[in-house]
Amino acid sequence: MNKKDKIVIIGAGLCGSLLALRLAQRGYKIELFESRPDLRKVDISAGRSINLALSDRGFKALRLCGVEEQAKEICMPMYGRLIHDRKGNEFSSNYSGRENEYINSISRGDLNGVLLTEVEKHKNVTLYFNTRSKKVDLDNATVYFTNYLTNKETIVKADVIFGADGAGSSLRKSYYLEKKFLFSFSQNYLNHGYKELEIPASKKGKHQISKEHLHIWPRGDFMLIALPNLDGSFTVTLFLSYNEGEFNFENLTSEEKITQFFEQEFPDALKLIPNIKEEFLNNPTGVLGTVKCSPWFYQNKTTLMGDAAHAIVPFYGQGMNASFEDITVFDEVLDQNLESWEAVFKAYQKVRKPDTDAIADLAIDNFHEMRNHVANPVFKEKRKLEMSLEKTFPTEYFSKYSLVTFNENIGYNEALKKGRAQDKVLLNLIADDSIQTKTDMTKPELRVILEKVKIETNKTLEEDKIARL
Ligand code: FAD
Repeated sequence: MNKKDKIVIIGAGLCGSLLALRLAQRGYKIELFESRPDLRKVDISAGRSINLALSDRGFKALRLCGVEEQAKEICMPMYGRLIHDRKGNEFSSNYSGRENEYINSISRGDLNGVLLTEVEKHKNVTLYFNTRSKKVDLDNATVYFTNYLTNKETIVKADVIFGADGAGSSLRKSYYLEKKFLFSFSQNYLNHGYKELEIPASKKGKHQISKEHLHIWPRGDFMLIALPNLDGSFTVTLFLSYNEGEFNFENLTSEEKITQFFEQEFPDALKLIPNIKEEFLNNPTGVLGTVKCSPWFYQNKTTLMGDAAHAIVPFYGQGMNASFEDITVFDEVLDQNLESWEAVFKAYQKVRKPDTDAIADLAIDNFHEMRNHVANPVFKEKRKLEMSLEKTFPTEYFSKYSLVTFNENIGYNEALKKGRAQDKVLLNLIADDSIQTKTDMTKPELRVILEKVKIETNKTLEEDKIARL
């Protein structure tokens, strides 16, 4: 490993840009290639998630790279979920009982723009836009690029290649096409896709619904969510089956049927989306899938990072956060001064893979929780109790959501194990009437519950360990 090594990063999205920034800060020479135009100059948002939920794991990586404050300037805090039922009733559910714990809506394009501008300040990075990697010759660490504007092919030889080119990674594709090593790969699509719509700002440029919440319209088999933007608008996302149920993406093809669907299922939201028909018919429908693969690296030449290595469904709001956290973890491995890139890649994957597998599974759990359970009475009672426990015992109780979202110093895998055990215990205790919950519980009453939950959770964790779960 030499600071003079030529490092090529494919993909200047969220992960590739932050990775380039960190490696540049560490003194490496980087060439960063992006297939799309420079998003600071051209609007290329159509069809991709416009805003995202940024939380503590993402902030930790941004802090490492000195860009946390810049990101915070363009964040909109969301303190909890605001659930909308069919009748137009609303109820809120905070993300945490601790006051300083919330998630943030941030524009993908603006955040990516901040990162690119920081990257460009480093003389040891060269940025190329409109340049798409077609394939990678693994043994020769060579990337074959095509320039969109000129159609010209460029062949770039590197010492080390990072594939940060997202869920459809060209480097990952070369791994299985070249068949140089035993490459395990799975890609599981949900039968649900997503479509983005917009609640515009009011005539006065204000938000028309609470800007301090992530809004959810859960309907069992499908759901609508909305995240606020700085300009007063909301980006609304419909998650719906492609071909199952009375309404699905395949049969919502006429203006009448789209209106009927929204009038029946989301009448309050419909009033706020004036261009529903045009947007529904013209905006693309995106796919949702989970990618798991191994190994991420090939010898001392290439490795995958971000969605390229571990794309997940968006229901925990953690894909970007996990991709940023990759950089925190990779940086810690670089600090170990290992003898070669291969040793670094190997050590990185060993420590990181159990956590990215865990967040992939947690994200699927949350798919069911958000579209269905959030409106379930036992689930609501559990969340209320968890809020009280977190508020009353802020250093002792952490819900699964808090462990995943606000505890950036423990891995996703640990969060998954503890969080699932705790959930199981709480739901059982409530369903069996083994604990009595009521409003305004006293501290001693809550202490009794907390101790019960702790004992039962530890028992469950022990049983899981024996069963090797
Ligand atoms: P990408 O963001 O996909 O970036 C890859 C980059 O590589 C892109 O710029 C692309 O143009 C470029 N590229 C692709 N192929 C090539 C090629 N062949 N050659 C050169 N360049 C190439 N995450 C959260 O943390 N919170 C959320 O709330 C959240 N919400 C989401 C909502 C939806 C609907 C979706 C789909 C995802 C959401 N995510 C969320 C996940 C998040 O978008 C991803 O995890 C994150 O973008 C991963 O970053 P990345 O840089 O690895 O990949």
